[in-house]
Amino acid sequence: DEVLRLVAERLTELARPLELVARTGDDEFALLLPAMAALGEPAGRVGGSMPPALRRARELVEQLRLPMEVAGVRLAVEVTVGVVAEQPGRIEVSELLRRASLAVGRAKELGLTVGTYDSSQDASSTDHLALLAELQDAFAADDQIVLHLQPAVDLVTAAPTGVEALVRWRHPRRGQLSPGAFLPAVERSELLIPFTRRVLDLALAAAADWTANGINIPVSVNVSARSLTDPTFPAQVTEALRRHRTPASRLVLEITESVAVSEQEVVDEVLARLRSSGVQMSLDDFGTGFSSLASVTRIPVDEIKIDRSFVDEMIDKPAAGAVVRGAVELGARLGVRVVAEGIETIEQRAALIELGCPTAQGYHFCKPMPADKIVQALTQ
Ligand code: C2E
Ligand code: CA
Ligand code: CA
Ligand code: CA
Repeated sequence: DEVLRLVAERLTELARPLELVARTGDDEFALLLPAMAALGEPAGRVGGSMPPALRRARELVEQLRLPMEVAGVRLAVEVTVGVVAEQPGRIEVSELLRRASLAVGRAKELGLTVGTYDSSQDASSTDHLALLAELQDAFAADDQIVLHLQPAVDLVTAAPTGVEALVRWRHPRRGQLSPGAFLPAVERSELLIPFTRRVLDLALAAAADWTANGINIPVSVNVSARSLTDPTFPAQVTEALRRHRTPASRLVLEITESVAVSEQEVVDEVLARLRSSGVQMSLDDFGTGFSSLASVTRIPVDEIKIDRSFVDEMIDKPAAGAVVRGAVELGARLGVRVVAEGIETIEQRAALIELGCPTAQGYHFCKPMPADKIVQALTQ
């Protein structure tokens, strides 16, 4: 409540003259922007002007995300915005709000921060249900949910040090779908548990395959933030390990920091139980959360993965290079493995070696590949 009160306060402060703020739900706010022409923006097409509204929405998101302090704790809020552009007076306010909430739902489904409304989206809640029904079918079929596997390698020798499992959905009509297209829907439904079970099973089966070929490197599985708020998750993991007779140390769970602050106690408990079961923990997308450094001290991890964005910008932007160097030093000091993500070029490889980074993953070495190709790739 305190957080939402602060958000409301901040939103009210941010609103410019002529912009109206209303609280339309528990954690839902509406902002009515005046006709953009009145703000000196060029008039848009009939039906309102989307680009200026989008720009304004992004601006507000940036400012709303700035960390705030509640009872001595610094925290940041996640914001999703739906934008509707309409000419003044053309539709009822209630209809505007309905469309805005459709746009929000769509944005969340796609994992975006800002979504826009268009009339074709009016089917989107039925889309969502259809997607979930199809996913249920996908679990029943045994060849629709598959893993692509991508090795992490020693930067100097290119010898594999581990393999990450990245899920794909071979949709019967739409072709191969990336996690971004269906994970958000899975994560918000009761399908998350059977989904996670399937991914763990496929990953541990793949690992058994390369172990049988004499390669003793661990498999990394990405964990949804929501699983970390599920007290039964550690047992799901240990049961999967038992099914596959795999020692816990061969499994790395990749987690991100995007975990609800309100459920921090459950999350800490779940992480502690995972850790004591002997599973390795990796902090994914390191550097992108607002509290990366705090997380490293709060969550005992075995590995940090430097987010691809820093590797991307490392060569042009000294600040990105400094983050990489900082992460490498931090890793060395804490005795934590450091992996750089998304290496695409030989220049990036050289720069990372220069910075002392030991391990990396990326297209430069190997693209994610179907499970039946991995043993060959690892042994060549
Ligand atoms: P991530 O964990 O950060 O995974 C890295 C993403 O970068 C993958 O995208 C991978 O295919 C891609 N990638 C690897 N090397 C390169 C490179 O050199 N250049 C570029 N541009 N991209 C590279 P993908 O497979 O689409 O996965 C996206 C995200 O979906 C993952 O991000 C992860 O957060 C999530 N995810 C994937 N599989 C699972 C899963 O089984 N469970 C859960 N909960 N999340 C998953
Ligand atoms: Ca990952
Ligand atoms: Ca990552
Ligand atoms: Ca990522």
